[in-house]
Amino acid sequence: MTGFCTSPQFVDHITRPHHPERPDRIRAIALAVRQAGLVDSPNPFPDFELDLQLSPVGGEKLLELQPSPAEEKWIELIHTRRLVNWVHHICQSGGGMLDQGETPVCAASFDVALLAAGAVLSCCDAVMAGQVRRAFAAVRPPGHHAEPDRSMGFCLFNNVAIAARYLQRQHDVERVAIVDFDVHHGNGTQAAFEDDPTVLFVSIHQHPGTCYPGSGYGWETGEGGGRGATLNIPMVPGSGDAEYFSAIESLILPKLDAFKPQVLLLSAGFDTHSDDPLADIELSEEGFETITRLLAQAADVHCQGRLVSALEGGYNLRALGRSVVRHLVALR
Ligand SMILES: [Zn+2]
Repeated sequence: MTGFCTSPQFVDHITRPHHPERPDRIRAIALAVRQAGLVDSPNPFPDFELDLQLSPVGGEKLLELQPSPAEEKWIELIHTRRLVNWVHHICQSGGGMLDQGETPVCAASFDVALLAAGAVLSCCDAVMAGQVRRAFAAVRPPGHHAEPDRSMGFCLFNNVAIAARYLQRQHDVERVAIVDFDVHHGNGTQAAFEDDPTVLFVSIHQHPGTCYPGSGYGWETGEGGGRGATLNIPMVPGSGDAEYFSAIESLILPKLDAFKPQVLLLSAGFDTHSDDPLADIELSEEGFETITRLLAQAADVHCQGRLVSALEGGYNLRALGRSVVRHLVALR
């Protein structure tokens, strides 16, 4: 059985007009999973319309998991107290900007960010308890650009990095692997674990010479004791399904085989879709399904199937909704 964790509260994080990381992303996913027949509960956004052209996929429904906000002590497994206080302060004063202009927050954003991290932790709990084999958290704000002492790139707290440490502290997992297929480099996750040999971080993304945030070169392989536990795979603009499948089979799967993680986490960004407005990678919706199957098979081999995936980017609403459905179909 596969879990699905989201909340109508994720639309309460208001960025600003025309910002790509917008509340409708959650509404698009809520509609898509229902049109695909993956979820039975009523749509919390009945008035939202989007031409998704999805039909029921059949098969087993997802188990809907209810998130609760992450306690701040779990956020502080990755982030400094200074950052947590600062984000809280900006939100409490009504909102503002957390970085150079890309990461606006409103009064509710701090609480929504705690709930986003909490949703990924709820997925971890469900997977570790054996309640579900795999789980997907449809959350916002996203997390993978957030560094230990800095929120940036639409990200407040690093949901997946927090989950990796939580698995180690709360569930006694020793080795966690994170595979990040968002089109942008997961600089925040890399910064959290670059000197740590117990968390393998793999990021496949558009080449940093052509894409935000400008890091994630192949020579970035970890620091000190963590050397070798970071793998960056930059892809040239225009790369599509075939190039991604080849990189996953020749580079990522062997890395996972060597590391032997006990749980696999995914930073699932769907801005790798050919229709996404923010970047130039050309994955298809079927491509996301194949990539997910390849990674889920690795989790079957090494992790007793245990896999938790969390939403990162994806800014074309139709592509996002349809791609999340393919991702979920492959996770079942
Ligand atoms: Zn992205």
